[in-house]
Amino acid sequence: MIDTFGRIHTDLRISVTDRCNIRCFYCMPNENIRFRPREELLTFEEIERFVRVAAGLGVTKLRLTGGEPLVRRDLPRLVAKLAAVPGIDDIALTTNGILLAEQAAELRAAGLKRLNISLDALDDELFRQIARRDGLDRVLAGIAEARRVGFDKIKLNAVAIRGLTESQVVPLGRFARERGLELRFIEYMPLDAEGRWSDEQVLSGETVLRLLTEEFGALEPIEPSHAGQPASDFRFVDGGGTVGFINPVTEPFCEACNRLRLTAEGQVRNCLFSLEEWDARALLRGAAGDEQLAALLRDCVRAKRAGHGINAADFQRPQRAMFQIGG
Ligand code: SAM
Ligand code: SF4
Repeated sequence: MIDTFGRIHTDLRISVTDRCNIRCFYCMPNENIRFRPREELLTFEEIERFVRVAAGLGVTKLRLTGGEPLVRRDLPRLVAKLAAVPGIDDIALTTNGILLAEQAAELRAAGLKRLNISLDALDDELFRQIARRDGLDRVLAGIAEARRVGFDKIKLNAVAIRGLTESQVVPLGRFARERGLELRFIEYMPLDAEGRWSDEQVLSGETVLRLLTEEFGALEPIEPSHAGQPASDFRFVDGGGTVGFINPVTEPFCEACNRLRLTAEGQVRNCLFSLEEWDARALLRGAAGDEQLAALLRDCVRAKRAGHGINAADFQRPQRAMFQIGG
């Protein structure tokens, strides 16, 4: 699936729910949320069929996300189904970690290869301020259990917010270094549900890198391991591991983007910031054959724009917030 800019799409992000057990202010509203009725969500069988078609068109990597994917009942069953699809060689999961302690072993046994756990703050009060719910202890327990059951290369994702999370940069750096976890800082993007984002709240990767350098000494850049990798990775020169920066606002990486997204209710998007969607659910629930699904995917890829345009004067936010897309 090559778009008009020559980008080859091998990576599919699948949202399995728009529900979540916390309410991060940069993603979800705090109250009065209208979740999709359950019957609108794709079933595991529908997701599997979609993935078979996508794999036939060159998709090799999957990431399950949401909302919070671990609130979707029976998720390991989906992982096992997707792991058996010919052509899929990597399945990853992004989770807030709250339910991970209970599910880590089963997910691993089902064929999950990689885990990204979101953790923006190690301070209890700040965690609560961001997530608008309790949960830090459970996230920490989830991380410990994931390591115990043998997940390696666990990544920790931290959204960096100016005026709020500067104090967490060094503690998170230390936490990750001590445990051999790959820490990645993500710039805050205009996908909050309440429409309050402003570029003044973006704590840039460059600033975070400076804070880490001041505490831990020099970091040196690492060559990207594959094209399409959004993170710029650095190595602590003292041997303390690596840290990555995903800088969609200050250093957009759209020219290397190889991703497509499937929302929980079966809409295909070619960008987080896409203003258009392609209705795969209508095909999956109608009489359409696999060729029609493949044609829909090709149409979606063909329509992909050069970039998200966050920094352009005429930038238009998508209607959906992050939890309704799948990060
Ligand atoms: N609930 C899971 C979690 O939090 O890991 C998976 C879904 S969440 C939408 C995926 C990732 O997107 C998380 O790492 C989250 O921190 C990040 N995210 C959410 N809203 C964001 C925003 N406005 N800007 C940058 N990252 C965001
Ligand atoms: Fe839930 Fe993840 Fe959104 Fe936070 S970022 S509200 S954990 S879906």
